[in-house]
Amino acid sequence: MAKKYCDIETLKFILNEVNNYTSLFELEHFADHDAESMETFFDSVKDFSDKELYPCFAEMDSPPAHYKDGKIIVHSQVGKVMKQGGEMGLINATFPYENNGLQMPLTAFTAAHYIMDAANNHLPGYLGLTMGATELIIHFASEELKETYVEKMGSGEWGGTMCLTEPQAGSSLSDIVTSATPTDDGHYKIKGQKIFISAGDHEYASNFVHLVLARIEGAPAGTKGISLFVVPKKRPEADGSLTPNDVITAGDFQKLGQKGYCTTHLMFGENDDCQGYLVGQPHKGLKYMFLMMNGARIGVGRGAAAIAAAAYEASLQYANERSQGRKLTNTGKKDVNAAQSLIIEHADVRRMLLMQKSVAEGSLHLVLKAAKLADVANFSSDEKERERNRLLLEILIPVVKTYPSEMGLQATSNGVQVLGGYGFCSEYILQQYFRDIRIFSIYEGTTGIQSLDLLGRKVVMNEGQALQLLAGEVMQTIQDASKYDELKPYGAKLGEKLQLVQKVLTKLGGFAMAGDFERYTSDATIFMEFFGHLVMSWLWLEMATVAKESLVKGDTAHSSDFYESKIHTMKYYFKYELAKTTSQAEVLMDEASLTIANGKKVFA
Ligand SMILES: Cc1cc2nc3c(=O)[nH]c(=O)nc-3n(C[C@H](O)[C@H](O)[C@H](O)COP(=O)(O)OP(=O)(O)OC[C@H]3O[C@@H](n4cnc5c(N)ncnc54)[C@H](O)[C@@H]3O)c2cc1C
Repeated sequence: MAKKYCDIETLKFILNEVNNYTSLFELEHFADHDAESMETFFDSVKDFSDKELYPCFAEMDSPPAHYKDGKIIVHSQVGKVMKQGGEMGLINATFPYENNGLQMPLTAFTAAHYIMDAANNHLPGYLGLTMGATELIIHFASEELKETYVEKMGSGEWGGTMCLTEPQAGSSLSDIVTSATPTDDGHYKIKGQKIFISAGDHEYASNFVHLVLARIEGAPAGTKGISLFVVPKKRPEADGSLTPNDVITAGDFQKLGQKGYCTTHLMFGENDDCQGYLVGQPHKGLKYMFLMMNGARIGVGRGAAAIAAAAYEASLQYANERSQGRKLTNTGKKDVNAAQSLIIEHADVRRMLLMQKSVAEGSLHLVLKAAKLADVANFSSDEKERERNRLLLEILIPVVKTYPSEMGLQATSNGVQVLGGYGFCSEYILQQYFRDIRIFSIYEGTTGIQSLDLLGRKVVMNEGQALQLLAGEVMQTIQDASKYDELKPYGAKLGEKLQLVQKVLTKLGGFAMAGDFERYTSDATIFMEFFGHLVMSWLWLEMATVAKESLVKGDTAHSSDFYESKIHTMKYYFKYELAKTTSQAEVLMDEASLTIANGKKVFA
């Protein structure tokens, strides 16, 4: 295990100086918090992560969570984390006061969960899913359901899950068939199977509350006929006892990574005795889920950013300790009698580490920026500000989910490479990070689905208004950077790339105008890569500008080396990563459509 799993100094720089998150305390909803109380909270989360999460990270991988005799067996630390995490507010801190919450900004909560994810990405999901399920109840369920469930879930005594996926309905939720039959008693009888349900069962919660998407008999076909139900594993009775509710745990999926985070197969109503309680209005279930989806997607981006950061720290430590070969001298020769060099002196190793650093830290900035947009969109008293922040969040959210997941995987692969053969061996932790991060581009909407959302919906939403707002933000950063000669060329480069986005969209828009929507979206994932690099370059220029300002002002919050390293990483990003957008634009604007299934036997 590496000595360090995340860089708290960088987290605080991005949170405080780059995102200026303390401005949120000016909003009435967050007025009881201040920077000092948040510091105390972050310190306690770091301490908790050091003591309870990081030490058991490797052992959660093996033996994995598994199914035995009708039960899911998970690492015993799950119990400690549910209990202590609940007590520390790591489930309910963002909830309103009237629901036992602390009205903490999502931005601060995201920073806290980032520390935990970096320490041990198998554990925070147990808290995170309980939080997500409880939030749905708080926002959309009846007072009676709130009274019954919110307190026990918020404290971690009961676990929560999100049950969307079925064997035939993964990306396409319109094909859900789990049924809900109304009864004279006011509840519904639920029947169906849900697969891949994270944190769906274990012995460390006395009950589970599943938020289940199902179709009421006679409901319209497609997404407009899907309703949301609270379905407890055990029914809470008036006397406080719990009665089994015909929810059977049929198995636990064995996986490539995140092996300590159980992934269950649940069967509802096999004995015709599973009660479900409607949340909100009939047929609005998917709408409710989607209203909460932005938070879940920020959570996925955050997890991937954290793993990429932990992998970077581990490979950086190795590169600083491992000697191999000798650095070339200026004559182009190696002095074989000299001591071996540390591998961190080799340019290629430095390139890989810089790629890791740029992706990990840039992703963290993206995730925290999105969380802050969500906080302002939800709680500003100024309606225009709320709408502006909402639109910016909407266009960024598919990128927030996808960039850290996809580029974090590549960054972590570089981390394995930095270790050479040892990177592939179980005694070093890099292989576990590499396996763990692989899932992030699949769950909570695959990269393909996120890319369709970005190009098919978000880019054109409100007649392109969200895109225009984003372009305005990028232009503002370019203007801020141009005050410094060192940063000016990078601002100019970013300006050129912004024009390239317009060119690409004009070209693709031609297909849409001609009614060929399949061609318009056929390379949506390439567009996501292209757009993701542009967004990340903007965020790196923003970070570099803040660092430069601090250097010029002589700020001493961090060392000058710290600030210089941020500027250097921005330059890396522009040279090695932003440059890739040229070839991506070429692919996007190429007329040939080679991937559309039009009857040709391409795979013959
Ligand atoms: C470890 C793990 C944990 C999970 N946790 C949960 C959970 O807690 N709750 C829950 O409800 N679900 C959960 N899931 C399910 C997850 O959200 C789905 O696996 C995911 O949405 C993809 O669905 P699928 O597996 O059916 O793949 P499919 O939908 O069959 O997709 C297969 C491939 O086809 C592509 N594809 C599908 N449709 C289209 C299209 N229209 N256009 C272009 N490409 C397309 C996809 O991008 C993908 O590459 C989890 C899954 C895993 C593996």
